[in-house]
Amino acid sequence: MHDLAPYAAHPEETRGRQHFESPPQGRNHFQRDRDRIIHSTAFRRLEYKTQVFVNHEGDLFRTRLTHSLEVAQIGRAIARTLGLQEDLVEAISLAHDLGHTPFGHAGQDALNDCMRNHGGFEHNLQSLRVVDQLEQRYAEFNGLNLTFEVREGILKHCSVKNARTLGDVGQRFLDRTQPSLEAQVANLADEIAYNNHDVDDGLRSRLITLEQLKGVQIFSEHLDQVQKLYPGLNDRRLIHETIRRMINSLVMDLCAKSAELIADAKPASIADVRKMPPLIKFSAAVQQQQLELKQFLRMNLYRHYRVNRMSAKAQRTIRELFEAFMQDPGLLPEDFQLRTQSDLPRAVSDYIAGMTDRYAMKEYQRVFVISEREL
Ligand code: MG
Repeated sequence: MHDLAPYAAHPEETRGRQHFESPPQGRNHFQRDRDRIIHSTAFRRLEYKTQVFVNHEGDLFRTRLTHSLEVAQIGRAIARTLGLQEDLVEAISLAHDLGHTPFGHAGQDALNDCMRNHGGFEHNLQSLRVVDQLEQRYAEFNGLNLTFEVREGILKHCSVKNARTLGDVGQRFLDRTQPSLEAQVANLADEIAYNNHDVDDGLRSRLITLEQLKGVQIFSEHLDQVQKLYPGLNDRRLIHETIRRMINSLVMDLCAKSAELIADAKPASIADVRKMPPLIKFSAAVQQQQLELKQFLRMNLYRHYRVNRMSAKAQRTIRELFEAFMQDPGLLPEDFQLRTQSDLPRAVSDYIAGMTDRYAMKEYQRVFVISEREL
């Protein structure tokens, strides 16, 4: 491990876990958390959950599992450059999407809509719920009993109303203070990862084209460079070489700007970091370019009619499953039925949120379609 900066999250100074446990041996607190996340059920399910594309559409597209691995890789590279705690960034990155519903953004919007009168559904909060409560792996407690610093990083956003119910990790949304720099890094590594892999997946699926992307500054700059260096390169290599360079330049820019902000602000500890404005940032120029790329993706990929059709089907599936379980909780698997007495909508929401894309599709068949191979 490289030398930790004074403003990094030092594992031995963790604010601790909700349930007392003896300190880990042979690994630090954040490594233990990362290991717990990797061994969790929710983590394995990420393989069959998607962001933009539905899981069965092709083996080449990113799933939430490969997305999370890319976030961890990018996050660790940044952490190392800035003298931050890599294991913490890795743990937050691997856990950040654990609470996502099936069918990506569409599924999440649908579930949020279903839960409108029952406390709502926020995916960040659900990720925290997975690691705090829903995983059933330990004899002595629910959840994974992770350190405060990992839990704080997972809870990227949170409404004030929900923050009031969350105790220690909710407090910063009430005080308007910042999380650790490691959490800030994981957050922006997420952004770098998805913008770039959505370009890649979008091109591969032919929903967007190279021609269209030439109108996006950050892409066209790197594309021009690659074409000048390697005239006549085939499209596949051209795209990968361009994206590789885009990721690299974003990481370099983020590290340079953040190092500058940190040098100016001179935080002496993580406590200082929390009281300061965000210190992990892109330069203004690159921030603007990222925004342009995001807007391009929103208009041309996320709202492509073929994505819209898939999203509409996904939303219908989620909505109808939710209504069926609400009307007749007897349709739920037994372990979820046990929880319906305390809060039926939340039990249904947890059940649906935990589903993978293919599980939700199969469950829809099992709930609504009579087949000869019943039961
Ligand atoms: Mg993500």
